[in-house]
Amino acid sequence: MVSEKMYALGAQPSAIRDLYEYGLRKAAEVGEENVYDFTLGNPSIPAPPEVNLSILQHITQDPSIAVHGYTPGAGDPKCRAAIADDLNARFGTEYSLKDIFITCGAAPAITATLAALCMDGETNEVIVNAPFFPEYKVFANNSGAELIILPADEEAFQINFPALEAAISNNTRAVMVNSPNNPCGVAYSEETIKHLANILAKRSAELGHTIYIVCDEPYRELYFGEGAVPFIPNYYSNTIVCYSYSKSLSLPGERIGYVLVPPVAADSRNIYLAVAGAARSMGHVCAPSLMQKMVTDCATVRPDIEVYKKNAAYLQEEMSRIGYRTAHPDGAFYFFFKAPFGLTAKEFSDMARDEYNVLLVPGGTFGCPDWLRLSFCCETEKLERVMPYLEKLYKEAEK
Ligand code: PLP
Repeated sequence: MVSEKMYALGAQPSAIRDLYEYGLRKAAEVGEENVYDFTLGNPSIPAPPEVNLSILQHITQDPSIAVHGYTPGAGDPKCRAAIADDLNARFGTEYSLKDIFITCGAAPAITATLAALCMDGETNEVIVNAPFFPEYKVFANNSGAELIILPADEEAFQINFPALEAAISNNTRAVMVNSPNNPCGVAYSEETIKHLANILAKRSAELGHTIYIVCDEPYRELYFGEGAVPFIPNYYSNTIVCYSYSKSLSLPGERIGYVLVPPVAADSRNIYLAVAGAARSMGHVCAPSLMQKMVTDCATVRPDIEVYKKNAAYLQEEMSRIGYRTAHPDGAFYFFFKAPFGLTAKEFSDMARDEYNVLLVPGGTFGCPDWLRLSFCCETEKLERVMPYLEKLYKEAEK
């Protein structure tokens, strides 16, 4: 006997992992250089030198008990203070270490935040606009919430406001925002964020309970669009931020991030404690101690994202030249394009895989069944090598 709910989660296939594993098997057969795997979002630039230097210094100079020991559950106070100081310097805020809870990356940060915001024994709904990171469904369900998915705005990939207004109900606890977005790379404009903030403030007042924004920000630092990405807590005070260093410092396997509960958010102290409780209930003890030391040293370090910017521009130009309809990425390392000539994304992805060993994730998993995601965290040269195949596929799809 096992838990049916957990069994279903563990046994469920993942479209992304399945394609990735197919790629590994195929590479063993035909050679790595003949497989064009664009499935995973593993950063391709090395961690900044400051990161490696900090880690090296700690493991060689500190007593091992200090490097590898437990920290407080909420994280090392020095690390939390360094993060708060960095946010304050950049965004003009007044956060302190008491507002920061260190987690093992964004995934547990979001899971704990949603669990903190959902009411025991009530119907809870969390709203997200497509396209969205598919694990949100798991995180929301785990918190006793249903994920309500708004159809994508396939023109600009901003928020579908008519659908949002219709979806908000007495059961709405939070709206998830991920900008720059995985899978489309688009960042929400300031206008979009202001409009979202107005709607949520108005509807919270009407309903008599706060609707929070849960802002998932692993790509905040990977932004190459115009101006700056709006820092959402400065537009809507009831925003909880879930951050990760996985992508910004190229450390996805090291598991480090945080939850920020701004003190100006409604019920902030209780939410902070509920985040701590939710993390505890998930078996969180503390985030990796060595990584916390590194963040203490490197909270102000930003990545060099030239290659992502160059890849985005290259794909935009070439894919548009061929005739593909595309989103216009402002950040992250994902390129989103529509399957041409009425094919479904699954049909196009199968064709690309079977004919040319080109692995692209069909967008059904992100709530956009006609679109495909190409992860461009790779050398530009790999994109140049695959482009003739993407051109052939376009022509074949037309037939
Ligand atoms: N949120 C989004 C939008 C992501 O793309 C990812 C990872 O790809 C995560 C959350 C999870 O990040 P982490 O590795 O920090 O758990």
